[in-house]
Order: sequence, then C-alpha cells, then structure tokens
Amino acid sequence: MNEVLGSTRVYALLGWPVAHSLSPPMHNAAFGRRGMDAVYVALPVPPRRLPVAVEGLRALGVAGANVTVPHKEAVLDLLDGVDREAREIGAANVIVRRDGKLLGYNTDGRGFIEFLRRDGGLRPRGQRVVVLGAGGAASAVVHGLGAWGARSVLIANRTEPRARRLAARYRPLFPSTAFEALGLDPADLGEAFARATLVVNATPIGLEGWKGTAPSLPLRALPAGAVVADLVYVPRRTALLRKARRRGLKTLSGLGMLLYQGALAFHLWTGRRPPLPTMRQALMRALETRP
Ligand code: NAP
Repeated sequence: MNEVLGSTRVYALLGWPVAHSLSPPMHNAAFGRRGMDAVYVALPVPPRRLPVAVEGLRALGVAGANVTVPHKEAVLDLLDGVDREAREIGAANVIVRRDGKLLGYNTDGRGFIEFLRRDGGLRPRGQRVVVLGAGGAASAVVHGLGAWGARSVLIANRTEPRARRLAARYRPLFPSTAFEALGLDPADLGEAFARATLVVNATPIGLEGWKGTAPSLPLRALPAGAVVADLVYVPRRTALLRKARRRGLKTLSGLGMLLYQGALAFHLWTGRRPPLPTMRQALMRALETRP
C-alpha cells in the first residue's frame, strides 16, 4: 500500500457492490510503480445515491474515477461532458477531472480490442464474431469490433429484441461491418458458430457464484482455428474456456480486458505510460488471494 499523505491525490471506483473489485490492487500497484502520490479506493454507491456521489467527487476534489455496474449508463447525465466513444456506447466507465470539469470516457471497448491484440495476437479487422449477450459489456465489445473493422458481428442474446436493438444502433455507425441479431436457439447458434472466427461470452454465465441456467453452446460447430474469449475472469478458467480447450481451440480469459481497460484509464487520468506487467501481476495476486 502506498503511503497516504496530506497531499495524496484520490481516485475512486463507484459501484454497487464494489467489495469484490480487483481495480484497487491494480491501480494502487500502478501508482506505486510510477512513484506517484496517489491512492485508489472503492466506494459502494447505491443507485439512488449516484447523483449525490458524483457531486461528492466534485466537492472533494477527487482526481479521477471509475464507474462500474450498475452506474455506467446513469452517470452520463451527471457529467459536464462525455466523449464520442462513450456516447456511442451509451455508457462511461471512466471519469477524468479536467479544469474542474468531470468528463466521461469509455475504455471497455478499446480495452477489449487491446486484449484481443496483445493477449490473443488477433487482429480485429476481418474477424467473423459471435458475441453472446447484449448488455453493457456486449455493447462496448461490439463497438470496439465495429470501430476496428470486424467483418461481421452476430449478437446472440436470450432476449432477442435486445440483440436487435444493439445491432440497429451500430449499423449506421460502422457500415463496413455486418451486424446481425439472434436468440439462443441451438440450431441458429450452430450455423453462426460454423462461420465464426471468434466467440465472445459477454454474459455472467460461468461467473463464480452465478446461479442461472446456462444455455447449451454448440462449440463442436466452431472451425478448428476459432478463438473463444470469456469476459468473465472469476474463475480465470471458466467452464466455457475449459470446454473450448478440450476441443483444441485457443482461449482468452477476461482478466486481460480488465487489465487493458484499467491501463487506458490510468493513461487518461495521469498522462503516463501504464506499468502493464505490474498491473497484471497485482491482478493475478489479488485473484489468487481473494477471501
Ligand atoms: P448486463 O448488462 O447485466 O448484461 C447481462 C447479459 O447476460 C444480458 O445480455 C443477459 O441477457 C445475459 N444473461 C444473463 N443471464 C443469462 C442466462 N441465464 N442465459 C443467457 N443469457 C443471460 O451485464 P454486463 O455489464 O454486460 O456484464 C456481463 C459480464 O461481463 C459480467 O459477468 C461482467 O462481470 C463481465 N465483464 C467483464 C469485464 C472485463 O473487464 N473482463 C468488463 C465488463 C463486464 P438478457 O438480455 O436476456 O437479460
């Protein structure tokens, strides 16, 4: 833990709940590595208290913040400005304080792209992707894939109209990418998987302690060179990733996306190069020593 002094700059995470978050160890390790007089704390903020909490950031001179579930969408209306990417995604996960103003950014989409490139060695351009889920995380991932030139993005969601709305939102923004939507019917998914080069799980299915019913996924239909990425990172090797590995497919654990969205936030707040190995190590340690 960095020494906290009278001069220490405070960064915060607003979410509900936040006690499980791995962002505090990641960012505190980064501040320590760069010798910065700064500290990062997680603050539990119930939904109805979000407006007063954002006002609190202003009053207390908090230097920057992350925003997580369930506040990423609602926070947009409480800020002094929102950058284009966050507005297109419809959510902000980063607040930067600049000249006394609170500005919203979204680093989830670009974090996902960095994760594909650096952890998976994958170029997003030309990929044929199936994204499972149509919630907040899926929206950022689909934006990233459209912005970086994926050939097609098929959004498969339990509630099909939600997938259709997401596809309709991104079609006019990224006309070179073909966006389609479908439900989780195994036969439709089988056809989609047979053409996919990448499958991304952007649902909480497989998350430790998750209690829903998981749909059956036709992994057998995937071509041999396909990659399966899971945004869930607790546990690091989810049931989906284990199954994909058994089929000989390449897999990517969502811890990488957490790392790169955090690294991009660190750069936005401080203007400094994020110490990636230190941040990754802190995440792994925090994951291993979780209560
Ligand atoms: P969200 O907005 O609540 O969306 C959840 C999505 O999962 C919805 O599309 C929902 O479908 C689907 N879903 C939930 N239960 C399901 C079930 N039993 N069967 C089929 N589909 C189901 O959540 P989110 O913010 O997008 O987050 C999704 C996951 O991504 C979470 O586990 C989160 O931890 C993870 N995540 C990871 C990172 C990272 O950095 N690695 C970043 C962000 C999020 P319906 O529309 O039908 O309800």
